[in-house]
Amino acid sequence: MSTSFLYHAFGIRGYDYIRTEYPNAQVIFTIAQDPHDRRCPACGSRDVISRGHAERRFRSLPIGRRPTAVVLPIPRVECRGCGAVRQVKVPFADPRRSYTKAFERYALELLRHMTIKDVARHLDVGWDTIKDIQKRDLARRYAKPKLKHLRYVAIDEIAVAKGHRYLTVVMDLESGAVVFVGDGKGAEALKPFWKRLRPSGARIRAVAMDMSGAYQAAVRAHLPKAVIVFDHFHVVKLFNDKLSELRRALYREATDVQHKAVLKGTRWLLLKNAENLDPEKDEKRRLKEALKLNEPLATAYYLKEDLRRFWEQPGKRFATTFLDGWIRRAEASGIKVLQQMARTLAAHRSGLLAYYDVMISSGPMEGTNNKIKTMKRQAYGFRDREFLKLRILAIHETKYVLVG
Ligand SMILES: [Zn+2]
Repeated sequence: MSTSFLYHAFGIRGYDYIRTEYPNAQVIFTIAQDPHDRRCPACGSRDVISRGHAERRFRSLPIGRRPTAVVLPIPRVECRGCGAVRQVKVPFADPRRSYTKAFERYALELLRHMTIKDVARHLDVGWDTIKDIQKRDLARRYAKPKLKHLRYVAIDEIAVAKGHRYLTVVMDLESGAVVFVGDGKGAEALKPFWKRLRPSGARIRAVAMDMSGAYQAAVRAHLPKAVIVFDHFHVVKLFNDKLSELRRALYREATDVQHKAVLKGTRWLLLKNAENLDPEKDEKRRLKEALKLNEPLATAYYLKEDLRRFWEQPGKRFATTFLDGWIRRAEASGIKVLQQMARTLAAHRSGLLAYYDVMISSGPMEGTNNKIKTMKRQAYGFRDREFLKLRILAIHETKYVLVG
């Protein structure tokens, strides 16, 4: 072991090597600072008086599977220049961290290929230690994304925990990057976003969102020139919810056991797009059978399949005619959930037709939502709310294994 080996292998330079010990399958290097090389950490003066030292231990790079640590008595000095009494600086570790910078860099490198849990196990440290290393790195790079270039965005809420705790996510639809994560949902959650957006000088041309109204007024107030598009994805999702509601009501009302069984088996078939029905599983026939038994269900199903054509019209004029026709048919169906849907679409007519001015959709947000759902299954990731938000801001980044 030598001073130059310490530098080349462990990134520690400017110290004297004292000894190596091997307790409990660990490797412990003790090093010491040259007493002639002490400076005041406040003003840099060498004119200092020794005031003892405090021994500290830093985790360092493992040797194979063996953990290593560096032990250093850190000198305390009193400065004749400025009068401060302090510990001298330690260049190989960040203040308040119990590991070296080389250890931190190594953990970040491993995090490109492994989950936090795996890295913590490999380096024989706690999950929180590795989480904090990743958290600081994510904060440095993602806490304040640039907003200047934003033109088309989607705004959506995501449920992050049971008991209806939400986050509001803003996505750049051109790059797929999440550019803002706010606490809660609705207008309040967006306040910090507007605060950062204003000085950025961004000119947002259009915003995709659902029809719930949670963000609409806020967007109108802060981006009066932006086109609001109630997007395809959310409309279909809402209709699917209505369809499930109808199926459940019919199931409750059904008295015939066989009829009930048929209804039960169609839950997913109803929500599938017709062209995705699996012939191998006989899905087409099963669906047909269920629809034959239930006229209201059949009406709703065909109106659902038909509504998808709204986004396939050759232009706004055709789309207008189509939408108004669909609304009339749904109204005339006499089925409560369809009439509700017709009224919702009628109330949001211009925002639906706006798709034919600016063809955007929250579709790309869905991929992100699915990744967040996967993260959510790992309960530990969600105790630290700020960490979760940073991970969502970094979710489009492929550099780290973020799910896991
Ligand atoms: Zn000083």
